[in-house]
Parts: sequence; C-alpha cells; structure tokens
Amino acid sequence: MKYALLDRGDRLSRALSEEFHAQAKARGLLADDDNPDTVVTIGGDGTMLQAYHRYKDQLEQVAFIGIHTGHLGFYADWQKDELTELLDRMATSEPRRIQYPLLHVEIEKADGKCEYLVLNEFTLKSGDGTLVSAIHINDEPFEMFRGDGIVVSTPTGSTGYNKSLGGAVIHPSLEALQIAEIASINNRVYRTLGSSVILPKHHHCDIVPPDPEEELIIGVDHLLMQMSGVKSIMCKVSERKVTFARYRPFTFWNRVREAFIGSV
Ligand code: NAP
Repeated sequence: MKYALLDRGDRLSRALSEEFHAQAKARGLLADDDNPDTVVTIGGDGTMLQAYHRYKDQLEQVAFIGIHTGHLGFYADWQKDELTELLDRMATSEPRRIQYPLLHVEIEKADGKCEYLVLNEFTLKSGDGTLVSAIHINDEPFEMFRGDGIVVSTPTGSTGYNKSLGGAVIHPSLEALQIAEIASINNRVYRTLGSSVILPKHHHCDIVPPDPEEELIIGVDHLLMQMSGVKSIMCKVSERKVTFARYRPFTFWNRVREAFIGSV
C-alpha cells in the first residue's frame, strides 16, 4: 500500500501524523505523496475537503480515510485513539470501497467556461447586496430567486451547510443534488418554493444571474472566489465518484445520529 497523509496543521494533528508515519513504516506501508492509492487525513471534515481537492485529478486511483482529532465527522470517522487499530487493519486486510456521488458545476462566462467537481456543495452569493438569479430545471424556468444565496449540495454535503439551511439529509447511495435557499425574499416579483429541492441524476439545474456584470461570490466546498461576467451556472450529478476505504462498518445513519443527536 502507498499512502499519502495530510493533517490539519494544529499541534495534536501534527503529533498524530508523526505517530502514523512511524507505525505505518513498522508495518511496511509506503509513504508516497505523488501516487498514493490511499489518502489519509488527520484533522476533521475540513481537512478531508482539502485532501479531496488536492487529489481530485486522481479520483479513480485513490481511496480516502479520515481520522478526527476533534468530534466525529462525516468523512473523518476514525477517532484519534483508534490510530493503531486503523493501521493494523490497513496492513492486514482489504477494505470495502464505498463510492459517493459528486456535483458537476459548469460556469459559462463572457470569456470562456470553467468546471468544478464538488464534494460538499457549490455556493452562490452576491458580492454586493442580495443575489438575484433565475433558476431553471431541465431547461424550463422554475423560479426567480432573490435573497442571500443558493447552495447546491451533494448527498454527503447535505449534512454540512445544507443542513444549517433546513435542507434534508440525503443518504449517499442516492445519486442526487439538493438546491437550498439562503434567506429568500418572497413577494409578488420574486417567488421561490421556500423549501429545498432534490433532483435525481438525470436532471440538471441552471442558475442565471440577470446582470452578467454583477460581481458574484462562488464557493466550491471550502474554497471561495470572486467572479464577474457569469452568464449561467449549470449543476448536475457528476459521472465521477469519490471512493472511501471502509475497514469496518459504520453506517451513514449511525454517523448522522452520533454527530447530531448523540446516544438515544
Ligand atoms: P469551517 O467553517 O472551518 O468549518 C465548517 C464546519 O463544517 C466544520 O465543523 C466542519 O467539520 C463541518 N463540515 C464540513 N463538511 C461537512 C459535512 N459534509 N457534514 C457535516 N459537517 C461538515 O470550514 P471548512 O472546515 O473549510 O469546511 C467547509 C465546509 O463548511 C463547507 O463545505 C460547508 O459545508 C461548511 N459550512 C457550513 C456553514 C453553516 O453550516 N452555516 C457555513 C459555511 C460553510 P470539521 O470540524 O470536522 O472540519
């Protein structure tokens, strides 16, 4: 096994990272940052987002594993005191390879097109005041949005920003995307559904700002960028998937319960 290791950079995560390398070497696992087959993160779900974006061009070759140094995460579901157990399993057994859907975003600009492959969510806000945008579903006008912003999430991203907006938590075996509103204004001119909308894989949505010169704030997972000259934004479920290595069963609903509810 060739592994790459990324940590959050805080003292605890760095110490655990050194411990991981030492124990991995003793078990014959090879560190390889350029061509790993397993990418291990130490920190939190945010660290996993960084690792995903670093290795997203090698998605067909790598499987991800996350160790949490704080509270249990959705991607980072091994606890810090389980390091030795994880390394024993990595050295002696084959994991189940679980695949999760991703979001494909295409931004049509005055000067060309850019594409993003998103793990959690795509976020659109205005750089100056409220965002106004038409939303089309499958090339038919659906609603005119005015408000703070729009979040389009993947099933695994549904427990992130989307959940704070009242969106549904979606099991990642469902190949779907979810559109959630951030503080929509509803009146006779601007009217939205008000609840989040879930689209299946064979559907797509387009977000069209009426003024292409408007400065927009675009969020791709943890990455934020300013963009102007945006004509339209198309979102659909990607054909590509991200792979996670599972060395023990830990169902999605157990992770949801432990993260948000605790023991029942
Ligand atoms: P951050 O602002 O430092 O962290 C945001 C929090 O979201 C962290 O507690 C992170 O967990 C958690 N998180 C990330 N992905 C998650 C997921 N799929 N399910 C449940 N929780 C998740 O930013 P960051 O660490 O760079 O993470 C960026 C993410 O933050 C975005 O993708 C978005 O989902 C989330 N976010 C949430 C809100 C909100 O809820 N109001 C607003 C902006 C962004 P860890 O502590 O384990 O890293």
